[in-house]
Amino acid sequence: MATGKINVSVDNIFPLIKKFLYSDHEIFLRELISNATDATLKLRHLTSIGEAKVEYGNPMIEIKVDKEGKKIHLIDQGIGMTEEEVKKYINEVAFSGAEEFLNKYEDGAKDTGIIGHFGLGFYSAFMVASKVEIITKSYKDEPAVHWSCDGSPKFNLKKGKKEDRGTEIVLHIAEDSTEFLEDSRLNELLSKYNKFMPIPIKFGTKTETLPKPEDTKEEDPAPTQEVDNIINNPNPAWTKQPADLKDEDYSGFYRELYPMQFEEPLFNIHLNVDYPFNLTGILYFPKLTNDLSIQKDRIQLYQNQVFVTDNVEGIVPEFLTMLRGVIDSPDIPLNVSRSYLQADGAVKKIASYISRKVADKLNSLFKNNREDFEKKWNDIKIVIEYGMLSEDKFFEKADKFALYPTVDGNYYTFEELQEKIKDSQTDKDEKLVALYTTDAEAQHSYIEAAKAKGYEVLLMDSPIIAHLMQKLETSKEKLSFARVDADHLDNLIKKEDTQISKLSDEEKEKLKTNLEEVIEDKTYTIQLEAMDSDASPFIITEPEFMRRMKDMQRTGGGGGAMFGMGGMPDMYNLIVNTNHELVGEILNTKTTKKRERLINQSIDLARLSKGLLKGEELTNFIKRSYEMVK
Ligand code: ADP
Repeated sequence: MATGKINVSVDNIFPLIKKFLYSDHEIFLRELISNATDATLKLRHLTSIGEAKVEYGNPMIEIKVDKEGKKIHLIDQGIGMTEEEVKKYINEVAFSGAEEFLNKYEDGAKDTGIIGHFGLGFYSAFMVASKVEIITKSYKDEPAVHWSCDGSPKFNLKKGKKEDRGTEIVLHIAEDSTEFLEDSRLNELLSKYNKFMPIPIKFGTKTETLPKPEDTKEEDPAPTQEVDNIINNPNPAWTKQPADLKDEDYSGFYRELYPMQFEEPLFNIHLNVDYPFNLTGILYFPKLTNDLSIQKDRIQLYQNQVFVTDNVEGIVPEFLTMLRGVIDSPDIPLNVSRSYLQADGAVKKIASYISRKVADKLNSLFKNNREDFEKKWNDIKIVIEYGMLSEDKFFEKADKFALYPTVDGNYYTFEELQEKIKDSQTDKDEKLVALYTTDAEAQHSYIEAAKAKGYEVLLMDSPIIAHLMQKLETSKEKLSFARVDADHLDNLIKKEDTQISKLSDEEKEKLKTNLEEVIEDKTYTIQLEAMDSDASPFIITEPEFMRRMKDMQRTGGGGGAMFGMGGMPDMYNLIVNTNHELVGEILNTKTTKKRERLINQSIDLARLSKGLLKGEELTNFIKRSYEMVK
């Protein structure tokens, strides 16, 4: 028996350990299970190379709780430690690690995010225990050792009673940490941190139902037996070769990761590199909605199958944080701050590798089965559009497979779109104009008007689409986008409808004055146009540029807000079709009252069709309309 004093500069480091990592106490379990795993894997290695002449067997790590004695036992069947090794690794090496950690992060342990996940190792046991014992027997033929320490720098070392190889850690749980004696709390931790660790972890037993023997009666209960409750899957899908996995393995693993997620993912991407960095993982494309914020933080980061975090910001390109799945890399430095992480060369390479792999996968899905890709487009477009906006390299690749669907269910690539509209949709400056709608319901009458002219209308309803169009217009030059209710439409229509106005110049002058007398609202600019007599008599349009800037302000991400264009005024054009019968009637109405009524009712209908009639004005319009039909 021996006692000694751990060589430390402060009298009692353990209260410090406790204090600094207050919010992260729970990681003690992951740290200790990691050590047990390492010890087991080391033994596997030593036996495989013939260095250790012992039977490796089927080792597992067991966690036992003694509620009354307020103890947690962690038992492994790994390499164990000799007395020499305990002195060296526990009293010296491990301790210096803990001390170094504290010195380093004394100031900023709280606000650095990723710190606290790794680095403290064995001594994190003192975050929850008032006393820790190690009972260990090395695979080498040496007696077992029993080390104990009550949180002061003094330790106690004596011969142990352990017969079999491996290490048992006994935690005497402190008064303020008794939550960790609850099965439910431990289960929660095990499933968070240890679900995919490479050595089986046993926590209690469970009852398993056996098949009924042939001769039992219907009403007899099936026999049962108690079996080890293994809480982890030591061979998760991402550690296997893609060639060894079938579709159902991928969807099975998805369910392991997200047991509460009932919807199947659309497809997956298996990541697997070993040069110039190590990275494995599986990313899934779930069905995505237009709400960007709620879908983040689903990707889990592991380091050699140990869960680290589900905040992969800075490691995975931002537009891909909407995906789900796992990435595992020993090359991501973990005990550093996030800002450092983002500047790290290896991490940058990882991010660009991931983004390239995703682009390649999408490209091959598009090439191999375009029909299927079109079907999935609506559920994945948000990621692709976001990626095109935020990364030029991704833009270049995605430009070949990004789709522009029409309201009628055609899907064009950008190139196809250009080809399609080349002959028909040019404005008066001969620039190609792609018409689109952001809301096929709200802009229905405009879509119909455009379709009546033979134009195709794209359905572009993502929240960030305005930003993407801006980018496409600058990088493609030859094409511009105009919403169906934009004033570009007038240009298209004008070009085709070089119709002769039924009204004389004098009549037009009079009509304009009549309209201006009634429409006091200065946000409307009145334009008289000679159009088809079938076209609407009154159409409200809006300058594309102004409207898009406003859209961009609403959805954030630079654009309008950047140029300080807050509070831009509303501006609309009121197009009056001088060839329409109703417009002729307005002109010929003798009584001012009736004329005013006709104009007001018509303008309100035009506003209704543009979605501008709201609140009290809408109520009045409805009242007035009922009066008229009465
Ligand atoms: P790290 O694991 O980062 O090396 P730790 O403080 O967790 O630091 O552990 C220090 C050392 O103690 C380990 O490197 C290992 O040699 C030894 N050790 C810890 N736990 C065990 C265990 N369960 N079995 C065998 N050796 C262990």
